[in-house]
Amino acid sequence: MTAPGGVERAFARSAHDRLAEHRHDAEWFAARWAAPDAAVVVVAPDEVAMDGDRLRRVPAGEAPPGERVLLGQSGDQMQLAVIVADIPPDLGPERVRSAGSRLTADEAGLAVHAVGLANWHRTHPRCARCGTPTVVAQAGHVRRCPACEALHFPRTDPAVIMLATDAADRALLGRHPSWAPRRYSTLAGFVEPGETLEDAVRREIAEETAVRVGTVRYAGSQPWPFPSSLMVGFFADAESDEIRVDGNEIADARWFSREELSELVAAQALFLPGIVSISRWLIETWLRGGHQGHDS
Ligand SMILES: [Zn+2]
Repeated sequence: MTAPGGVERAFARSAHDRLAEHRHDAEWFAARWAAPDAAVVVVAPDEVAMDGDRLRRVPAGEAPPGERVLLGQSGDQMQLAVIVADIPPDLGPERVRSAGSRLTADEAGLAVHAVGLANWHRTHPRCARCGTPTVVAQAGHVRRCPACEALHFPRTDPAVIMLATDAADRALLGRHPSWAPRRYSTLAGFVEPGETLEDAVRREIAEETAVRVGTVRYAGSQPWPFPSSLMVGFFADAESDEIRVDGNEIADARWFSREELSELVAAQALFLPGIVSISRWLIETWLRGGHQGHDS
């Protein structure tokens, strides 16, 4: 099993310059929308307008009404988006999670940026402090309360996702009770208030499998704005082997050697997570021996 080229590309970087320094300048932003060649991406919560395998670009003057957002700039192209409640059928709406694997890395970065904002705007129409309806500001990246002047910023919820290996370099994979049979993946969970990422890795593995973990190494991250997660990936060195699953968050967990996992996948007796996921990338990296487990 070789690593598909798209796995790392799809989440490891986001190519557009976000131009945050221009978000305060309403005049500058209006001029970008009025430019004769302005073209915009149309996005709704969880959906994006597609043109085959590419993001659809609609001339700014023909875009449906909605919240105007500055995504940034890639090369010479200004990246603008409009957030709507529902994308008109003739613009080719598609769920980002299914379209994402066909997009280029640059376009995937634009899509998750835009959809993350769309999801946040949908669920945060009122001031969290005083309840007054808020207004959009700073080119779509802030909501301001006209009553108490509070500024509200898009939220991101960190989650840890980790591949633990034991002293024999076997990997710990588990399956959620709701998943299709024979599907296994890395363990994951949300970070709690006041907790470091490393402690979250150790706590989640202990809660779900009773395996103790020592050293934790950062591997990479993936925005997952469905609705607002950032998946932070780690490799972890297990210091114990015995597994006791909680039966609640995890139905089964096992240690797999590289040979065993490769054979099971080849025989379609076990299914791994999708190509465009950090869990798959962690597994593929371990299969190649690139995880540097136990200080190897
Ligand atoms: Zn307020």
